[in-house]
Amino acid sequence: MNANTPLPFIPIVAGARELRDGGDAPRTAYDPATGEAIAQFACAGSAEVNAVVGAAREAFETGPWRKMRPFERGRIMQRIGELILKRREELARMECRDSGKPLRDAYWEVDCAARNFEFYGGAADKLFGTSIPLGNGWMDWTIREPIGVSLHIIPWNYPFQLIARGVAPALAAGCAVIIKPSEETPTTAYELIKICREAGLPDGLVNLAPGAGETGDLLARHEGVDQITFTGSVATGRKVLAAAATHTIPCSMELGGKSPQILFADANIESALDVIAGAAFLHCGQVCNAGTRLLVEKRIHNEVVDTLHARAKKLQLGKGLDDPGMGPLINKTQQSKVRAYYDLAAKEGDLLLGSELPTDKALQQGNFVRPALVVNASNKARVAREEIFGPILTIIPFEGVDEAIAIANDSPYGLVAGVHTRNIDAAMRMSEKLRVGQVWINSFWVGLDVEFPFGGFKQSGFGREKGLEALTAYQAIKNVCVAYTS
Ligand code: NAD
Repeated sequence: MNANTPLPFIPIVAGARELRDGGDAPRTAYDPATGEAIAQFACAGSAEVNAVVGAAREAFETGPWRKMRPFERGRIMQRIGELILKRREELARMECRDSGKPLRDAYWEVDCAARNFEFYGGAADKLFGTSIPLGNGWMDWTIREPIGVSLHIIPWNYPFQLIARGVAPALAAGCAVIIKPSEETPTTAYELIKICREAGLPDGLVNLAPGAGETGDLLARHEGVDQITFTGSVATGRKVLAAAATHTIPCSMELGGKSPQILFADANIESALDVIAGAAFLHCGQVCNAGTRLLVEKRIHNEVVDTLHARAKKLQLGKGLDDPGMGPLINKTQQSKVRAYYDLAAKEGDLLLGSELPTDKALQQGNFVRPALVVNASNKARVAREEIFGPILTIIPFEGVDEAIAIANDSPYGLVAGVHTRNIDAAMRMSEKLRVGQVWINSFWVGLDVEFPFGGFKQSGFGREKGLEALTAYQAIKNVCVAYTS
């Protein structure tokens, strides 16, 4: 893009209407690797929020979506998945520039978004109710009705994938949706709107309300919204819950984590360390389920620290489009926050790497930091308890299964855990006792993982995304009971 090319503009989308003027002046989105402006976006104020909610309400109440046969809805959703894959290259590159992630990670994100539409498109005609036996003279059954207008408040780390993760099951259930993307990463949400139109999705079913927290708050308080799926930090999640309570609507909360990876000496150490380093430093640690606490069996602690230290030193930093080992943090605020944690880590334990900013000239305009390991800090230290959302791995030794379980569970969060061992008894015992929403044995992810449920215990939230379980957030169960003469 040369200096005279106008920036792409992301409007507010309320049904078939696109509004360029919002409550506030348009804002700019930047590439976190270069500081370059990449797009401008409108910010929805209260008039535009009314328009967006009104469009969703109308599409839900009187539009064609609920009148269609479920398999027809499923076909349109499958088509959305196909169109996403057709534009894979372009969408991945947009995501790289918007969020800073390496290109390979952005391809994964786009593929995952497509999988969500394929999976829930296939589920649209399988939303069975139950038949309940009450004895002679009675017939009783349940119907899963769509909950209504569903609001999706999205963070900046995996915008395209997280939008698809919530929007696809909501559409399959028969809902109309409103997307409130993060002000840091608004670009691909608008591309999804265009794809939905091209696939033949009726107007008003997917609406877009770009803007910052004020826009999210107006939407969450709006009486025309029937349900909220929020993905973001605990602090914002609490505000959204309070806003939802003003009109008593259900919420699905996908919040943060401080997930443990637990390494026993009998594991295949080489392959485990690949997984462990990946889980800690993926997308510069800006992942809700990043494995940021490594619990290591005491007798291999020093050797594991040395190996990870050597690996972390070699991680090449760079801009997303160059597919580096690690990209930048999202913005300067996050960069300052992570640097403050480096200072804290050096007080609470020993900091290996991390503290100096990269000196390479090409990285100076971006929000880069170096990966860091923290050793000799206890699990009570703040670096071991707080979600940093940066590439800092705290390494804590343990002896035996019981101590590993106790340390892993001693956390305000409970999103996921990884266990690396060849001992099936230890693995099964850990999976029973860990207070987290998902336990990985000898892995930390499987790739295009749409099929199984994901969500947290404790402060990591409630409700489940992905899998058939996610559909329940978008359904209201109605019971019908008939008395007849037998
Ligand atoms: P954030 O909480 O700052 O913002 C999330 C969204 O909420 C943004 O769209 C923001 O504009 C909006 N928002 C801000 N204030 C609001 C308000 N008062 N009312 C309504 N909306 C408001 O989170 P972030 O910094 O964008 O993302 C990082 C966080 O997201 C981390 O804590 C991470 O763990 C979490 N996350 C969780 C999951 C998961 O599935 N559990 C996935 C990705 C990210």
